[in-house]
Amino acid sequence: MKDKTNILLIYTGGTIGMVKDYKTGALKAFDFKELISNIPELNQLDCRLKGISFEEPIDSSNMNPKHWATIATMIEDNYDQYDGFVVLHGSDTMSYSASALSFMLENLSKPVIFTGSQLPIGDLRTDAKENLITSIQIAALKEKGKPVVQEVGLYFEYKLYRANRTTKINAEHFEAFTSPNHPPLIESGVHLNIHYTNLLRIPGQKKTLQVHKTMDDNIAVLKLFPGLNESVLKSILGIPGLKALILETYGAGNAPMDEWFLKELKKAALSGLHIINVTQCSGGGVAMGHYETSAKLKEMQLVNGKDITTEAAITKAMYLLGSKISGKLFKTIFETSLRGEMH
Ligand code: ASP
Repeated sequence: MKDKTNILLIYTGGTIGMVKDYKTGALKAFDFKELISNIPELNQLDCRLKGISFEEPIDSSNMNPKHWATIATMIEDNYDQYDGFVVLHGSDTMSYSASALSFMLENLSKPVIFTGSQLPIGDLRTDAKENLITSIQIAALKEKGKPVVQEVGLYFEYKLYRANRTTKINAEHFEAFTSPNHPPLIESGVHLNIHYTNLLRIPGQKKTLQVHKTMDDNIAVLKLFPGLNESVLKSILGIPGLKALILETYGAGNAPMDEWFLKELKKAALSGLHIINVTQCSGGGVAMGHYETSAKLKEMQLVNGKDITTEAAITKAMYLLGSKISGKLFKTIFETSLRGEMH
């Protein structure tokens, strides 16, 4: 096993794993054991591939934190034997799962590349082959014996992004993802163009992988909109057991100044609910205090989500709550970049 680069493919489900039965026109699950015979191009890769699969592959709309723990376990159990991991996943919730895994895998020093496709692998015009083959090549990339990518990435349509910076933006185009607040790590053209300065390197990182599988789902997301009324706000803040609320605010972290709105938020924050201010804009971030409409939120000591995506904010909150850190530390740790998810 030692001479060649060993890559483990983890198939969770999604369009990428489907083939079209041209006689009936129906999409059916692809037999992963026959991967190489279905995609003979894989034989040309200079690495050894093995595939494992969810017992029952799923459409990614059915993903939940238990499935994330399964993916984390598959990586943990095979971590020493493989040089890199490629996770095949439906694109719909890929940014959530890949963000979650970035937090669950602490001290990761090998590539974990999520990919999928808009068209099934057996479709004539499929984007799956390029996404899969290049993801494998990226997972196998080494320089001076060390993996080039040492973080969780998401590869789609010629770009590798930091997974926890991504969001799905298009249900039709092959270019389905974007990373508005962090540039691509690698771009695929005639050559693989590695943007070294964009890659994550955590100084003094301990090398032992620590896998955290407990995610606490006592969280909610509230997207502000003009007309949000008091009873809606009250019922969300009153959810029994709620520990964190991701508040998607306007622009640079702004919210209405109505007295009832600020009073309810303040009461909830004082009672120990972690309220995380993230922007509903796709690019840029929160700058609390910049406008009058966010000054009160700053005074209330809301957690500053800075330029984090909602997907990363949700999974980071689940991870931190699952790690049982003290209520006092939550804000400080949330506001610190743990895996390059914020500036
Ligand atoms: N609905 C599919 C899924 O997310 C779409 C895809 O695979 O891209 O599982």
